[in-house]
Amino acid sequence: MTLYYEEWKEKQYACEECDWKGTGADCKYGLFHRKTFLEVYCPSCQGFLDLIVFPYKESCHKDLEKLTEEQRRVLLEQEEQMKLYLGKCLQSADQLPDLKDDDFILVWDQVEGETRITKGDMVIWSEPLAYEGFDRYEKIALLLKEKYGTRVKDLAPADSSLLFLYGDFASSIDYVKKVRKELFGVM
Ligand SMILES: [Zn+2]
Repeated sequence: MTLYYEEWKEKQYACEECDWKGTGADCKYGLFHRKTFLEVYCPSCQGFLDLIVFPYKESCHKDLEKLTEEQRRVLLEQEEQMKLYLGKCLQSADQLPDLKDDDFILVWDQVEGETRITKGDMVIWSEPLAYEGFDRYEKIALLLKEKYGTRVKDLAPADSSLLFLYGDFASSIDYVKKVRKELFGVM
């Protein structure tokens, strides 16, 4: 997943479906989901290439001056909640436990209000559940890869997690597939 407008226009893309190569600026764009996730497609074969995430704060902060006292209070409250939420989210590979096994598969699971990363019966991480949590999926997958290297062979989404992981955004399925392929070689 790519952050920020300015960077992604210059990002190099190579389509795996056909031979097309080019920059983000030359790609074809699809849905701009919840004004947060922009779909990026190959202009030649229409294959899925990427999702660009437009940060929540960008849009909120530019008109701060124009807000009423009430609107500003609400905004600050939202930011406080976001900070609390992020404080409970996995941010660093150091927060993960050491695992001794050679090769293993981890599961992305959902239990009540939590996303849980499990290995067999062991919960190795849990954090608050996020609707359309596929950007958390990628972030956590990257940290798992950083911590366990090639020993971790997959972060397999459990059936019970799919509704919240994908939400009602079809491209999230392609995106998770792409992350699993790139990080763990899962076809
Ligand atoms: Zn293509």
